[in-house]
Amino acid sequence: MTHNEQLMEKIISLCKTRGFIFQAGELYGGLSGIYDYGPLGSLLKNNIKNLFIKKFVEERRDTYLLDSAIVMGEDALTASGHVGTFVDPLTTDTATGKDYRADHLLEEAGVDPEGMSSEEMSQTIKDNNIVSPEGNQLSSVREFNLMLKTQLGSSSDSSSTAYLRPETAQGIFINYKNIMDSMHPKLPFGVAQIGKAYRNEITPRNFIFRLRELEQMEIEYFIHPDNWKAQFEYWKDEMLEWAEMIGLDMNKLHEVEIGEEDRAHYSERTIDFEFDYPFGQKELYGLAYRGDYDLKKHAGASKTKLQFTDPIKNETFVPHVIEPSLGLDRTILAILVSAYTEDEIDGNTRSYLKLNPAVAPYTIAVSPLVKNKEHIVKKANDVFGMLKAEFGNVAWDDNGNVGKRYRRQDEIGTPFCVVIDYDTLEEGHTDFGTVSVRHRDTAEQERVAIIELNNYFTNKLTR
Ligand code: ATP
Repeated sequence: MTHNEQLMEKIISLCKTRGFIFQAGELYGGLSGIYDYGPLGSLLKNNIKNLFIKKFVEERRDTYLLDSAIVMGEDALTASGHVGTFVDPLTTDTATGKDYRADHLLEEAGVDPEGMSSEEMSQTIKDNNIVSPEGNQLSSVREFNLMLKTQLGSSSDSSSTAYLRPETAQGIFINYKNIMDSMHPKLPFGVAQIGKAYRNEITPRNFIFRLRELEQMEIEYFIHPDNWKAQFEYWKDEMLEWAEMIGLDMNKLHEVEIGEEDRAHYSERTIDFEFDYPFGQKELYGLAYRGDYDLKKHAGASKTKLQFTDPIKNETFVPHVIEPSLGLDRTILAILVSAYTEDEIDGNTRSYLKLNPAVAPYTIAVSPLVKNKEHIVKKANDVFGMLKAEFGNVAWDDNGNVGKRYRRQDEIGTPFCVVIDYDTLEEGHTDFGTVSVRHRDTAEQERVAIIELNNYFTNKLTR
């Protein structure tokens, strides 16, 4: 096993044993490409979502939050192009019946599949004698639509066909008029949304990287077309600032300018932010200039005007859009990869998550040095209550001995451990009224007065 494969295994195992991420439906054999977030994963995820809302909605005066439905009607997704063209090239191992992404197999064989039609891929597979990973012949390539289809109500006529949205963005576009009519925004303005999206990926893989049920954080930023270049640069910088803020290893982040031949036909500029995952440099985020493509498509199909009128210039036009699109699960994986660290302490190897306190599931763990001394436990409880009231995500940990607690809190990325010990309570002792604060990254400890604790952590943990 390579170092990177081992790293992935360690991260996946930590996620399971420490309650971050579980395979969905594991009890019944598991669902491929679908995961449940456990107690700690949910906290981590929530912290990221809250930071996104804080940075891109609360701290701005030009962005609105939206929470649109996951189920979308066929009309809207036909207009957006998803019913017709949201497809991946599928090829099947003729002996085992297993399906593969034809473009991935071509890439693995050293052929660039970008821009190839299904026929061209089939021909290239034949010409180059490309076989399945099991060494068998592959079928011809066909287009497979990635949307999960469902039926609304009891009627089976086509008017009840609906889909689980493949991206959150379309929910924003189809609410453009509602937002204009209810909020009366001036241009430029943004609509941000966080939510689940569904893609029936042919080969889900790499843990939470390629999922069938995923979560996205997207912003559609509506602008005057004349300003698109400056706005694009602005949003690129915002995304970089975001990546730094959540603690991504910036050396692992790469901006990849997408060439004209690989861009969607309506996009004049697209950047992929790629990240060095243990399985390779892959897309983390996208930033696209989508022009007026989506609003025009929905306006045409719904026969509704989706425009903006500038009251000063008296100019009416269809706004253009800059779209920062951030996958939440891929963010979590990139954070875990950035944070996973191994070092040696007192001759023992330890593994820990060097999480930025802004995203860590718990910022502080409080424990009594021993469990059988009532006055110590009581004092620890008081300190726990005080810190919890101030900082919220504070853990109580009295399992095992203190060394084990440190190891466990290190592994889940808790930046600080507070221990109430004998010195805390021994009147006349120089450390009376102080607790031990242990730092995750250095394993160093210091004494801090209980009355100073709130101040101390406020300075260390400002989100
Ligand atoms: P890929 O080429 O890797 O399939 P994409 O270009 O189709 O990704 P977009 O349609 O641009 O992805 O989606 C926006 C964001 O949503 C991506 O940058 C990524 O973070 C996330 N995302 C897309 N597909 C998945 C998936 N199957 N699982 C997890 N996250 C995903």
